[in-house]
Amino acid sequence: VAKMNLNQSSHCWRGCVETRATHSHIFWQFPLLDNFWKSIFTYISKVMNVELIRDPLVAILGVKPVGVHSRKKMYLLQMLLIAAKKAISIKWLKN
Ligand SMILES: [Zn+2]
Repeated sequence: VAKMNLNQSSHCWRGCVETRATHSHIFWQFPLLDNFWKSIFTYISKVMNVELIRDPLVAILGVKPVGVHSRKKMYLLQMLLIAAKKAISIKWLKN
């Protein structure tokens, strides 16, 4: 995100020590998101009755995880992950 504006610093604007605030950092690696993503993956695993492993490829890039075979389940997973990322965006914008 910071690379879109060349005049801005690429340091994390949320105050952690990261000097390269990439999309991946903001939505996955940021330290306070660790418990958030643990909860999300636990919740989604229960709702979908699938053993999902916490994985940024699934959460951020939308890669189909092992254990999700049907289109309906993949669609549900995508919607739930979009909602989770939207929640992060809303939280960032409020603070
Ligand atoms: Zn940060």
